[in-house]
Amino acid sequence: PENVEAYKVALSKVRSELLGKHYPLIIDGQERDTPQRIESLNPCDTREVVGSTAQATIQDAEDALQGAWAAWPEWKRWTMDARARVLLKAAAILKRRRLEACALMSIEVGKNYAEADVEVAEAIDFLEYYAREAMKYEGFGAAETTWYAGEENGLMYLPLGVGVSISPWNFPCAIFVGMLAAPLVVGNCVIAKPAEDSGMIAGFMVDILREAGLPAGVLQFLPGVGEEVGEYLVQHPKMRFITFTGSRGVGLHINEVAAKPKPGQRWIKRVIMELGGKDALIVDETADLDVAVTAAVQGAFGFNGQKCSAMSRLIVVDAVYDEVVSRFVERAEALKIGTGEENANVTAVVNQESFDKIASYIEIGKGEGKLLTGGELKGEQGYYVTPTIFGDVDSQARIAQEEIFGPVVTVLRARDWAHALEIANSTEYGLTGGVCSRSRERLEQARAEFEVGNLYFNRKITGAIVGVQPFGGYNMSGTDSKAGGPEYLGNFMQLKAVTERF
Ligand code: NAD
Repeated sequence: PENVEAYKVALSKVRSELLGKHYPLIIDGQERDTPQRIESLNPCDTREVVGSTAQATIQDAEDALQGAWAAWPEWKRWTMDARARVLLKAAAILKRRRLEACALMSIEVGKNYAEADVEVAEAIDFLEYYAREAMKYEGFGAAETTWYAGEENGLMYLPLGVGVSISPWNFPCAIFVGMLAAPLVVGNCVIAKPAEDSGMIAGFMVDILREAGLPAGVLQFLPGVGEEVGEYLVQHPKMRFITFTGSRGVGLHINEVAAKPKPGQRWIKRVIMELGGKDALIVDETADLDVAVTAAVQGAFGFNGQKCSAMSRLIVVDAVYDEVVSRFVERAEALKIGTGEENANVTAVVNQESFDKIASYIEIGKGEGKLLTGGELKGEQGYYVTPTIFGDVDSQARIAQEEIFGPVVTVLRARDWAHALEIANSTEYGLTGGVCSRSRERLEQARAEFEVGNLYFNRKITGAIVGVQPFGGYNMSGTDSKAGGPEYLGNFMQLKAVTERF
């Protein structure tokens, strides 16, 4: 991004205006504080407390749910156009505060400016795209469909009611706001439960949505502990839908809890899930190796590999294995390590738990493959892990199967193209994938057989453009709900078919 100087100005503005800020709960339009708070630490320098949010109690969750149902009858009567305007206004405010949002993400989750800037652009796109898409569902349409003579059929899309949105810390701006904006614009009320590590950026976004004109009770802001208020909301008989982005383990647990009806529950809960990945890039002997190595470095180490779409398995056919791997290692070693605010290539990972988890996988990896570079951990004043690459790993090894969510890549040697594709499809995940090859035939085969929701040829395998590259995974990576796609709003509506005989 070009605005580096302006970003630096925003950093000092955020440091003087937002550092130490406390974000309370917002229930029915009122701020509410709690006895306990959740503190945010700067992952790049843990001596710095960034600020805090309230920590919702079970009673707060109950109040938020009741209040949202009370606000719903009025909100669902708003026209689609009026609701869409709120999103467009929020997008306009976010454009104005774009650099502040970037700066806050750098300080709260250690995201560098380049990555933060792309993320805020995505958040703006989500708001504008869902506002436009919503217009397709306005009113009572398709009355021309006649089947029996003298009868007319019409289709109507109706909102579901009240849902909860449970979001992760790794895209604390774009995913947080996208998961809210879609259900809201089509007439649902939403309780937002942000991740514990990114409550401030969530609070910042909620302020923008309120300023844009969301009425009281329509969006309840409920930062809290996942296992407490998150769990309570998910199991609640009055919860109509759950939209969740996060890890496979938590997602599967929520799916199970949500499936079990409680006394008094009148519906089957709708569950929308975006989970983890173990995304692979295949490089064959026909590939442009400059392109392949760049794709590998960018896909693996952008935001320190803390993306569901991160390239965590590099599959290289034997004929070019040595060359690709040595160039990949060389490029990884040249990456600059530092803070998000310095716009370093690799920054600190998000928290102690994540740091410890990555450290334990590095230990496991030493027994499962050859440590080619990295593996150094520095956790005193920030959670730093050097870019780490393991070579000659078996496709069934734990580091080749389990999501590590850090700057750790597993390289696998394939005999040939067919073997490479077989390895690529050998995990239970299916989020993103990539192929670097000049063979048209192989690309066509990958198009048909590589089991992922987002497939990229001859480029890095991360990134999704709202409205152009709908994003979401197959298999254990989620319910393939495709955020930023033309069918996404349908997840938050029910269709009524009305037949009238004249
Ligand atoms: P996480 O699963 O630990 O937490 C996600 C959210 O769930 C948090 O808000 C947390 O508080 C909440 N939670 C935890 N336990 C809960 C419970 N029992 N009931 C209800 N809520 C609960 O995930 P994370 O560490 O925040 O995010 C990283 C994960 O998200 C990675 O696995 C990554 O691949 C995935 N992710 C997927 C996508 C996608 O689009 N597929 C996008 C981003 C991140």
